[in-house]
Amino acid sequence: MAEFCSQCSMFENEYDIDLFQIALKLKKGHSTNVLCEGCNIRAVYKDEEGLLYLGKLENNTIKLYPVKLEELIK
Ligand SMILES: [Zn+2]
Repeated sequence: MAEFCSQCSMFENEYDIDLFQIALKLKKGHSTNVLCEGCNIRAVYKDEEGLLYLGKLENNTIKLYPVKLEELIK
């Protein structure tokens, strides 16, 4: 079964990967791999200062995009 994250699921409140919960539980300096089949998000990363990034797969490399925790609430 395909898995979708909370950012790209087409169903409200129906998704397999809750990016907000993942980001919330993530410790500083750590990252979590996610595998969403709907978009190219491959990782959630929190740096030592607590800033959040979404790692997106682009041209076979992971690019980090800054994101705010509030933006992940769905
Ligand atoms: Zn997604």
